[in-house]
Amino acid sequence: MSQTQEPDSFEIRLNALKARIDAACKQHGKNPEQIKILAVSKTFPASAVKEALAAGLHAFGENYVQEGVEKIAQLIAHRQALEWHFIGPLQSNKTKEVAEHFDWMHSIDREKIARRLSEQRPPGVKPLQVCVQANVSGEASKSGVLPSEAVSLALSIAALPNLTLRGVMAIPEPSEDEGLQRSRFAELTRIFEGIRAKLLAPQQILFDTLSMGMSADLEAAVAESLPQTTTMVRIGTALFGSRAAK
Ligand SMILES: *Cc1c(COP(=O)(O)O)cnc(C)c1O
Repeated sequence: MSQTQEPDSFEIRLNALKARIDAACKQHGKNPEQIKILAVSKTFPASAVKEALAAGLHAFGENYVQEGVEKIAQLIAHRQALEWHFIGPLQSNKTKEVAEHFDWMHSIDREKIARRLSEQRPPGVKPLQVCVQANVSGEASKSGVLPSEAVSLALSIAALPNLTLRGVMAIPEPSEDEGLQRSRFAELTRIFEGIRAKLLAPQQILFDTLSMGMSADLEAAVAESLPQTTTMVRIGTALFGSRAAK
């Protein structure tokens, strides 16, 4: 993959992204401080992460275990400044690497994965911050727990010692219909509120994150964001450019 980019192009893209977020917040009466950018650096080299870090971003998402672990190692000198989020599908034989190297895990869709992550989180390290991935696209998607099972999965996660349940995540099916995008995110917010109602008071305080919205549908995610809650938009293409086909 060869990338020829203007030296200042990352800043330009970041500013354009912030302008989109601000415009969507203004349009829908939302507070931009509650929208957080998770820069999805998958397929891009460590140097791209460094450039984004220099531009003021600090949370990065990866969705392939091996690639993520390698990048974390390459950037170990910056470890304190970086927050690493695992956002991809995870097989149970790879949970140990996520438990050992990442700060967040967004895509928990079954109890077995949660249990292994908790058991494999190294002692003395802050609990892994996690989200339940919900399937809000019905038959159009296979990833994520069914909405009807989200509360029970969330409650079993909340009982695990080395995980902190932070919120919910979804990847709706791609669609250019903003009404459909919004209905998917609205369903995720209903799942979020359903889980929150069942948590104990101390767990409710930490449960504060909607991981929703990507380059193509962040406006719909902003429109459906909830007050007193962080909406983490996971942005790859709009920040780093298009990815080479795998
Ligand atoms: C790749 C990826 C993204 C970023 O997608 P863009 O459309 O490039 O912004 C967000 N979330 C997940 C889970 C991804 O795998």
